[in-house]
Amino acid sequence: MQRCPACNARLGALTLCPRCGAELKQIIRSQRLAEQWLSVSLQSTGYGLMDVAVPAVLRSLSFRQTPAAKLVKGFLVQRLYRTLYQDVAERRWPEARDVLGHLRMLEGRNETLHRFYDMIDHLSVKSDVNSSCD
Ligand SMILES: [Zn+2]
Repeated sequence: MQRCPACNARLGALTLCPRCGAELKQIIRSQRLAEQWLSVSLQSTGYGLMDVAVPAVLRSLSFRQTPAAKLVKGFLVQRLYRTLYQDVAERRWPEARDVLGHLRMLEGRNETLHRFYDMIDHLSVKSDVNSSCD
């Protein structure tokens, strides 16, 4: 870290700002944790492990709202919606519900996700009835 984030004074290798007295150890530690969790998220995304990738990017953002972590979060949302459409199209209801759970972690509750939950409940019940008639 080159400059104090509070007052912009030059720091060099100091962790206590000489101008405003801000203690920066905690901030430096948060930065490091944010980077580590972001890399966990990226790696697990590469392996398709959304159960890990989604909470890891949220963890990273909780330590620091970096543009990189926001980008990864946006990428995950896009990718999860693509998976959701595929799961729904191929009538994979439990998988679709998993994806919705991940999207809700990333986006919070919203109207679109709510409609998807309703639709999946409706369609999965319908397909259960159909299969029991076979
Ligand atoms: Zn300062």
